[in-house]
Amino acid sequence: MRFEYAPAPESRSVVRLRDSYGLFIGGSFVSGSSVFKTISPATEEVLAEITHGGAEDVDRAVAAARHAYERTWSVMPGKERGKYLFRIARLLAERAREFAVLETMDNGKPIRESRDVDVPLASAHFFYHAGWADKLGYAGFGPSPKPLGVAGQVIPWNFPLLMLAWKIAPALACGNTVVLKPAETTPLTAMLFAEVCQQADLPPGVVNIVTGDGDTGRLLVGHPGIDKIAFTGSTAAGKEIARQCAVSGQRLTLELGGKAANIVFDDAPVDQAVEGIINGIFFNQGHVCCAGSRLLVQESVADSVLDALKRRMASLRLGDPMDKNTDIGAINSRGQLDKITSASQAGEEEGARRWSAPCALPERGFWFPPTLFTDVASSSPVAREEIFGPVLTVSTFRTPSEALQKANATQYGLSAGVWTSKGSLALEMASRLRAGVVWANTFNRFDPASPFGGYKESGFGREGGRHGLEAYLDVVATDVAGTVADV
Ligand code: NAP
Ligand code: MG
Repeated sequence: MRFEYAPAPESRSVVRLRDSYGLFIGGSFVSGSSVFKTISPATEEVLAEITHGGAEDVDRAVAAARHAYERTWSVMPGKERGKYLFRIARLLAERAREFAVLETMDNGKPIRESRDVDVPLASAHFFYHAGWADKLGYAGFGPSPKPLGVAGQVIPWNFPLLMLAWKIAPALACGNTVVLKPAETTPLTAMLFAEVCQQADLPPGVVNIVTGDGDTGRLLVGHPGIDKIAFTGSTAAGKEIARQCAVSGQRLTLELGGKAANIVFDDAPVDQAVEGIINGIFFNQGHVCCAGSRLLVQESVADSVLDALKRRMASLRLGDPMDKNTDIGAINSRGQLDKITSASQAGEEEGARRWSAPCALPERGFWFPPTLFTDVASSSPVAREEIFGPVLTVSTFRTPSEALQKANATQYGLSAGVWTSKGSLALEMASRLRAGVVWANTFNRFDPASPFGGYKESGFGREGGRHGLEAYLDVVATDVAGTVADV
């Protein structure tokens, strides 16, 4: 018997949306030359008008960040910087509901996830880095490591506030100032964060936020006044930026795409593994760079795992992201929905067998049902290319070495998962999987103290933990990827 759920909508009343938002430069909201609109992907309703940052705006923001860097932030003792970071962390926690509701409205992700994952982790990131601000001399980078200067930071739309925190918290803790560009479709929590900076009395110019599209991002990363570029986004844009930095000599970290293997051995508890597979690929509609989008299951248990997985997928609740019982929210934009749809069609045309959960899709907004593909050739694009949506490919293996070979046969290397009750097998796999993060008997777990980043076309540099500080300090960078032997 299946229980019916009554609607459990979160109220929007906690959010005070403005009709329009300026750019946040030098501690104030300022106007720019043109505007665009941000919508709710679940309803297609226009939420607010946002300022599009042009060349002059980026110049102004970089100048404000440089001024703040030289006059206040880099000369302030770490102990004092830490107080501001603590204050921001506390304000994020105090205003958590407001941030969660706004994130869900602008991005389309379920309120359960923005409330329980995005916002608490964003606050935790500021708490964690507040603690580092006066202890950088003990981080293993020499007695008094220096900041780099002005950081230009560009982030995507899948975790708007959380990616902002990953970028801004370590930069500020190390004494840098920042100019950040949020993604075009999800600027609202960044604008609310700008209000938090004002509320925390952060010195003007330490954080500057310039909204806009990819062109604004290009202007920022190409600006000669930027000392360090931190980019999270697609591998294609990352390559373009890397080419540019090879000439300019600016410091660069790239967090790019992924196509992670989630490997289930025959001794794994099936129900737990199925929950892990679901979390791995359907969390945040699969708009997750480290999503477990390639399921590799040991042949002897493949049928039973697949049956249990389909049963569980059929029980996922897709719909209104503001409903507290919703598991799968809206796809972030029409453009992303088109990409997911065409990648899935290409998979079918190539002969892979598609199964989608039998759920009704709302009429308005952008939606895609939880989907899996079996009979997938490992050469097929559906198995190789990042889809960045709720689409899983399933293939089988017989031995651990076959699983390793298949898991590592990708141009990416961001994450992987292993499900087994043998600790020795999990450790052996973890040491041979070429992925920045390997989860054992869990998936998509994040902690500010744990470094995150990729190998190969998933990018370079680490965010979080002691390793993440290195990206914002004037110290010789260690080649993390180079320290690991090829498998
Ligand atoms: P994207 O098109 O590369 O955009 C990312 C950000 O960069 C956006 O703010 C975008 O602006 C801007 N941008 C686009 N082209 C640029 C360029 N040439 N120079 C400077 N900025 C540029 O990526 P997306 O499709 O939005 O995001 C999804 C991708 O991000 C996926 O591939 C995913 O795997 C990756 N991702 C990686 C991580 C990680 O930590 N490794 C985390 C999250 C997402 P507009 O969007 O405003 O146009
Ligand atoms: Mg939006």
